[in-house]
Amino acid sequence: MQIIKCKDFFKIKTKNYTISLDCETPDADFNFLSHSHSDHLFKTKKQAIMSEETYELAKIRGYDYNLMTDIPSNISLINSGHMIGSKSLFIKEDKESLLFTGDFSINSRAFISGLKVKECNNLIIESTFGKPEFIFPDAATEVKKAKDFINDNLKKDYLTVLMGYPLGKMQEIMHYFKDNSSILHPEIEKYEKTLNKFGLCNGNNCKLNPDLLFCPSLNSKNEYFNRFKKTRGLKFAVFSGWNINPFYRKRFGADEGFTLSDHADFKELLSTVKKSKAENVYVHHGYSKEFKKFLRIEGINAIDL
Ligand SMILES: [Zn+2]
Ligand SMILES: [Zn+2]
Repeated sequence: MQIIKCKDFFKIKTKNYTISLDCETPDADFNFLSHSHSDHLFKTKKQAIMSEETYELAKIRGYDYNLMTDIPSNISLINSGHMIGSKSLFIKEDKESLLFTGDFSINSRAFISGLKVKECNNLIIESTFGKPEFIFPDAATEVKKAKDFINDNLKKDYLTVLMGYPLGKMQEIMHYFKDNSSILHPEIEKYEKTLNKFGLCNGNNCKLNPDLLFCPSLNSKNEYFNRFKKTRGLKFAVFSGWNINPFYRKRFGADEGFTLSDHADFKELLSTVKKSKAENVYVHHGYSKEFKKFLRIEGINAIDL
């Protein structure tokens, strides 16, 4: 098989077909869509392989795909551990194989199963956090810290605003705090009906004196919060892998920040590459230059395209 760079992503030429990964190219026979984050969605009239969850969530975001159901037998999808419905792609052809991770995490958390890395000849791996400074604390410890923050606020009758990326990250956070009464920002609410169809029941939309407000990452001075400030004090927290940088939460004027990531950190990226035993490693997204340099120091064949 042949691996060709295509915009920020790749296309794969096999004997029988050309498939493009998270991007559209004129010569692709069909596409693969790893998940429903907007930087991975694109317009196409061709058939596309994706999970049912990605298909439904992309629809809410304005993309109506032609879902491919008769997937070639040498292609398999595996959970990528990034968000609901996210998939990695595995192709096997004769003695050669390829794993495209898409955005991924090897950690199982909340309702998400982490990527189980498969051995392959060719690995295409994202490197959002491809620098050694990105080594994240244990998720359970961060969730415990967030719980303490919430409980402390409740004692003082503050409404706690929990902020993060509205699709993916937010449902994970909602899962951790599902026992608290809560309300949802409309940008999060709009996914609820579809998510409920897939068995995710998160927000309980309690209008009367809720403990929590789930919200996209906004500045704490945003006028959206004025209606709540009239009756109660507010405390703000952000959730992101980028929170490893102490300045991150200050960007939003948040009181607290918790380092919870849906991507692999630097250590996990390295261990994924090693576990895959890939002879050829293709790196894309984020700190790809830096990560390739580290791979080469480890004696791994990181390829420039
Ligand atoms: Zn993503
Ligand atoms: Zn992404």
